[in-house]
Amino acid sequence: MSGLDNIKPIHNWFSKKLDTHPIVISGPCSAESEEQLVSTAKALNDTEQVQIFRAGVWKPRTRPNSFEGRGLDALQWLNTVKQETGLLTMVEVASPKHVEMCLRHNVDILWIGARTTSNPFSVQELASALQGMNMPVMVKNPINPDINLWIGALERIHKAGISKLAAIHRGFYPFEKTILRNIPKWEIPIELKSRFHNLPIICDPSHIAGSRKYIHEMAQKAMDLNMDGLMIESHICPDEALSDADQQLTPEDLNELLRGLVCRLHVV
Ligand code: PEP
Ligand code: MN
Repeated sequence: MSGLDNIKPIHNWFSKKLDTHPIVISGPCSAESEEQLVSTAKALNDTEQVQIFRAGVWKPRTRPNSFEGRGLDALQWLNTVKQETGLLTMVEVASPKHVEMCLRHNVDILWIGARTTSNPFSVQELASALQGMNMPVMVKNPINPDINLWIGALERIHKAGISKLAAIHRGFYPFEKTILRNIPKWEIPIELKSRFHNLPIICDPSHIAGSRKYIHEMAQKAMDLNMDGLMIESHICPDEALSDADQQLTPEDLNELLRGLVCRLHVV
């Protein structure tokens, strides 16, 4: 039984071809200011290695009293990024209101975060808001290593008529003290791919690593497994980031990391 049978290859999602391997999504954990967003995007664009610019606009913080994002203002800054760089833009949505605002502000791709994927009620509300929209959506794995919860979220979005669908592997919460922030459990994305061959899988080595020094190793592992793309957080000045400061790279360091990856020849 496959509930994910009509998935469009990621290379055909837009008229501008996304034909690189890997597809690279990068940008800050959070949109903080127009200056931070535009300068990061321009530097990323100059590397000619990034196709999609990500930024968190509403941040799902685990604990209260943390930076929760700039909301509507950030959506306007993302439009400036689009105009000035031509990069595609990508934003996390957690409610129908977020979906509506992103659609109104010409965001190109939506993603569902790990905390939201964990809640079928929230995913179903998002699916209803997306019904009949031809929007590309990527779904991160849930916080806990429950492959069915991940598949269920993908199926709910797919049932709403979304064929531009991809999964993002960002690792799983370990209660124990571990070197990595989230344990990769590579067998889970491997099983997902074996069950749904057409489903593009993007790896997010930043949230797996939690620290700059392990990002390369995780990204290389994703390439060894022939994943379709990478989502890597970057910031014009990582040490000053308002969220996930330890795991963001400068655009220059990202460029170097990508150039150091050994990628299999990809047959599209
Ligand atoms: C993010 O991408 O910044 C984020 C909040 O990720 P996750 O949902 O994987 O924790
Ligand atoms: Mn983050």
